[in-house]
Amino acid sequence: MVNMYDVIVIGAGPSGSMAAYVAAKLGLRVLILDRFRFPRIKPCGGGLTQKSVALLKGLGIELNSVVRDTCKRVIIVNNAGSFLLMDNDPIISIVSRDEFDNYLLSSALEMGADYLVDRIVGVDVHGEYVNAIGMNDTYVSKYVIAADGANSVIARQLGNDIRRGTAMAFMTIAHGNYLNDVCVIDMTRIKWGYSWVFPRGDGEYDVGIGSIRWGDYRTQLIKYVSDVGLREGEVRGHPIPIKARDRIVSKRIALVGDAAGLADPTTGEGIFYAMYSGALAALTLRHSSSPVEFASNYLGIIKPLIKNLSLAYYLSLGTYGIDHLVMGRLGISAFSISSTRNLIKRIMSGSAWYYQVPMSMIKFSVLKGPQVILKGILHG
Ligand SMILES: Cc1cc2nc3c(=O)[nH]c(=O)nc-3n(C[C@H](O)[C@H](O)[C@H](O)COP(=O)(O)OP(=O)(O)OC[C@H]3O[C@@H](n4cnc5c(N)ncnc54)[C@H](O)[C@@H]3O)c2cc1C
Repeated sequence: MVNMYDVIVIGAGPSGSMAAYVAAKLGLRVLILDRFRFPRIKPCGGGLTQKSVALLKGLGIELNSVVRDTCKRVIIVNNAGSFLLMDNDPIISIVSRDEFDNYLLSSALEMGADYLVDRIVGVDVHGEYVNAIGMNDTYVSKYVIAADGANSVIARQLGNDIRRGTAMAFMTIAHGNYLNDVCVIDMTRIKWGYSWVFPRGDGEYDVGIGSIRWGDYRTQLIKYVSDVGLREGEVRGHPIPIKARDRIVSKRIALVGDAAGLADPTTGEGIFYAMYSGALAALTLRHSSSPVEFASNYLGIIKPLIKNLSLAYYLSLGTYGIDHLVMGRLGISAFSISSTRNLIKRIMSGSAWYYQVPMSMIKFSVLKGPQVILKGILHG
C-alpha cells in the first residue's frame, strides 16, 4: 500500500509532537496531523515545571530559545495568608504556547516526521491498518496515537464521556506593571481552584483562573486582572480533563495527553503529562510486535501515571477544601509548614510523585481533618 505510515499522530500539541518526535527518533515512519497550521494559539498559562524541562532535555530538546521568563519564587495566597516557595533553580519556566508548540513540532519534523493540516473526523480500524479520516483526505497507518486534546473526537469514538472529570480554565494575556520573575497563585478568588499571574517579560503577563468545578469564570478573571492593576487582552477558555478516560487504548489506537484525561487535578498542570504520555506511547509502539501487545504494554506503562494523578485528585480536595476553605478561615494552613512547601517543590520538579505523599496523610486531611478542626473549635 502506497504511503502507509507506521503511525499517524492526530494533534500537534505537546503530547502529539512528543509522540511524533520519539517515534521518528526510533526510526518509525510518522505522519502528524493537526487541524491548524502552526503556530496556532492554545489557551494556557504556559507554566512549565522543571520535570517538563528535564524530560525535554533528556530527549535532546533544549528550551532556552522559547522560555519567556523563569520564576524561582512562587507566592501562594490562601485564606490563611501568603506563603513563599523559593528555590535556587527555577520552579516554573514560562513559555508562550504558540511559540513552544511550534518549536516542539519543528523538532519532530527535523527528526523526520511528516506534517499535514487536516481536521480528523474519525478513525476506521481494519485488520492490518487504520484509516484516519480527515475533511480533506484519508490517511493510512498501522497505528494511531490520538493527541487531539480535551475535546478529542477519538476519545469519544472509543466510547469515553469527555465531559466527565473535566475542569475549566480561562486566561488572558494582560499588560502593565506587576511582579517580574515571580509567579503568583491565588486561591482566594475562586472555589476549588485558583487564579494565577505568570510573567512573560516585556510587561506581558499570563493571567488566568481555573477550577475543578465546570463553569464560566470570565467575569471573575476580568475583575482579577483589574484588581492586580493590569489591562486584560482577549479572554479564552478551555476544558482541562483531570480524570483518566475509562478507555485509553484499543488494538491499534492509544490516547495520550488531554485526550487521555491526564492533567493534574491539584495544579492543572497538563503539559508534562501530555509530553510524557506521548513519549511513552511512541516508545511502547516501537517495542511491541502486535496490536494486542501494544495495547497491553501501553496500559501497563501508563498505569503508574494514572495512579499518581488519581491520588492528586484526593489531594486537591484536601488543598482547596480542607486547607483553604476550612483551616484557612481559622488562620491555619499546611503551606505554613516548611516540609509541606518542600514536598510541593519536589512534586513540581519531578523528584517526588503524589504516591510518595503517604496515603495516610491524604486520608487524614480529607477524612479526619474537618473533625479535628471542629473538636479544636468546640474545646477552645
Ligand atoms: C487556561 C488554561 C491554562 C493552562 N495552564 C497550564 C500551565 O500553565 N501549565 C501546564 O502544564 N498546563 C496548563 N494547562 C493544561 C495544558 O494546556 C494541557 O494539558 C495541554 O495543552 C495538553 O496537551 P495536548 O497535546 O494533550 O493537547 P492540546 O495542547 O490541546 O493539543 C491538541 C492538538 O490537537 C489538535 N486537534 C484537536 N482536534 C483535532 C482534530 N479533530 N483533527 C486534527 N487535529 C486536532 C488541536 O488543534 C491541538 O493542536 C492549561 C490549560 C488551560 C485551559
